[in-house]
Amino acid sequence: MADHTNGHTDSSLVLPEIKFTKLFINGEFVDSLSGKTFETIDPRNGEVSAKVAEGDKEDVDLAVKAARHAFDHGPWPRMSGSARGRIMMKFADLIDEHAEEIAALDAINAGKLFAFTKMVEIPSVANTLRYYAGAADKIHGEVLKMSREFHGYTLLEPFGVVGHIIPWNFPAMMFFVKVAPALAAGCTMVVKPAEQTPLSALFYAHLAKQAGVPDGVLNIINGYGPTAGAAIASHMDIDKVSFTGSTEVGRKIMQAAALSNLKPVSLELGGKSPVIVFDDADVDAAVDLALLAVCFNKGEICMAGSRVFVQEGIYDEFVQTLAKKAKGWVTGDPFDPRSRLGPQVTKKQFERVLAYIELGKKEGATVLTGGKASGDKGYYIEPTVFTDVKDDMAIAQDEIFGPVMSLMKFKTIEEAIKRANNSKYGLAAGIVTKDLNVANTVSRSIRSGMIWINCYLAFSDDCPYGGYKMSGFGRDAGMDALYKYLQVKTVVTPIYNSPWL
Ligand code: NAD
Repeated sequence: MADHTNGHTDSSLVLPEIKFTKLFINGEFVDSLSGKTFETIDPRNGEVSAKVAEGDKEDVDLAVKAARHAFDHGPWPRMSGSARGRIMMKFADLIDEHAEEIAALDAINAGKLFAFTKMVEIPSVANTLRYYAGAADKIHGEVLKMSREFHGYTLLEPFGVVGHIIPWNFPAMMFFVKVAPALAAGCTMVVKPAEQTPLSALFYAHLAKQAGVPDGVLNIINGYGPTAGAAIASHMDIDKVSFTGSTEVGRKIMQAAALSNLKPVSLELGGKSPVIVFDDADVDAAVDLALLAVCFNKGEICMAGSRVFVQEGIYDEFVQTLAKKAKGWVTGDPFDPRSRLGPQVTKKQFERVLAYIELGKKEGATVLTGGKASGDKGYYIEPTVFTDVKDDMAIAQDEIFGPVMSLMKFKTIEEAIKRANNSKYGLAAGIVTKDLNVANTVSRSIRSGMIWINCYLAFSDDCPYGGYKMSGFGRDAGMDALYKYLQVKTVVTPIYNSPWL
């Protein structure tokens, strides 16, 4: 299955020059105060791709100071929504112009498929900016009728200085689902990209400045979670924190927010999403959907459909088809257009996924396909399907964050609902059936923030997503996310001699 070259397969491809490796504070690229740097590693071969300035608490303080000043005194929250929108549109155009360079940075930083990132993910984040740019001049409150003596209205005001802490799995999308609505709302911000994938975020800072985003509005602090990340979560002058990452770190963010200035937080956390395939499904299409659900982005996706429940009438046929089709998910260099899975993001993540595969074997599950690393260098893993999985096994309960599917058989719709909900997580679910009544019943019964019926991972800018249960709270994307960065203020005034009630 593996098709490794682990080098460039396209001789015309020139790896990007890495231009931006410092912190971005108040419109300037600067070294960290300590002078420290850290290395980012190319997951295709384990080699160092760049040395990046490492921000600490003191650098976060400087960035917050710049963001605070830009919020309290700068033009961004004071200019008209349409003026903000125009700058955001320009930012979007610049991203489109540099799609190839940005995609290459994400390929050598996160192991993302170069062609897909260039053709799909980067154009789509440019559109995310355009979506919110269009909303920036449509932010308004409501008129409150109140009584004969008083009337009122609500204002939607920008929340203030926002801290965004983001993970490594979608360096572009995670950045813009947070930054774009916050910009539209008129907030200023400090972003901490994941330490594994800071390169494209720094490039965005450069483009934002070129587009006309004023100094201090968008600040980027590269650094580690327990230092730079924790400093953001506990900062007394940050008004809100928007976090995407693991459930474990989400808990720490909430604690830090509670113990500092009680800032509200939104948490987009882990998942262990079910895909439920009913007897009436087209088996071929259902297998394609299930493989996409767990292999897309090499399984490094919070909404991965990693628990697949198949009804007993088609189970055997499903297993046979799956074994054949899994071979089509070729693991290989992200620059090779034949690859459908690049390397896992880091050695740590690679070893973690392999450890789960070993654990699955020990727990008594059977490896149907894959089950091992692939290639002789880099962090590649073959798409792995386990059968004979029991609901209480670790591989059926824990988020693995790799291309590992647990396949299970069920008899009735009631059983499927109960077992699908048997998870501490509640991020997404897939339902495959031709029966509308079954689809409706199951979609309303599953406790998760996103349901796909006869599709999976279909997204657009107007689809809010986020968690139920321990997958977090708050929504990213859609208009819900814009409101996350706005405060409601109610203004009341007396009315004298009103002729009407
Ligand atoms: P992580 O929680 O380890 O790290 C996420 C971010 O938090 C990073 O920037 C990291 O530096 C920072 N961080 C770590 N410790 C911190 C601390 N003590 N204080 C403040 N910040 C800290 O997660 P990860 O390994 O980077 O990403 C994978 C996780 O993200 C998975 O669990 C996945 O499900 C989740 N995720 C969720 C969504 C969603 O929308 N729900 C989307 C993508 C990823």
